[in-house]
Amino acid sequence: MEPAEYRVWVRAPEHVRPVDGVSYDQVPTEYLPKPSAVDQVFGPRRPSGWVMTKADGRGPGRGGVVHAVDCEEAPAGAPVLPLDRALDAAEQPGVRLCSLCGAAAEL
Ligand SMILES: [Zn+2]
Repeated sequence: MEPAEYRVWVRAPEHVRPVDGVSYDQVPTEYLPKPSAVDQVFGPRRPSGWVMTKADGRGPGRGGVVHAVDCEEAPAGAPVLPLDRALDAAEQPGVRLCSLCGAAAEL
């Protein structure tokens, strides 16, 4: 077994609860920012648009990978594509949709 760092967002008390007799004083905790009044009414919105990584000629994403603009793996400074251009790009051979940011689910 290899040690690994693993981070996850959880909501208390729905997803986590304390174990009796264990101290959590040393556990670093970050609270989510309170959603704005607009987000509370309409739900969180993501920045719109899609970006594409450059083709590197190898593997399943050899023709490029399509990401949502706010994806961690989205290339910085890449031109933002509107939905119709992203769909066109997604149909090209060798182009993969990122599963991390939900491009695969949304396009
Ligand atoms: Zn992505």
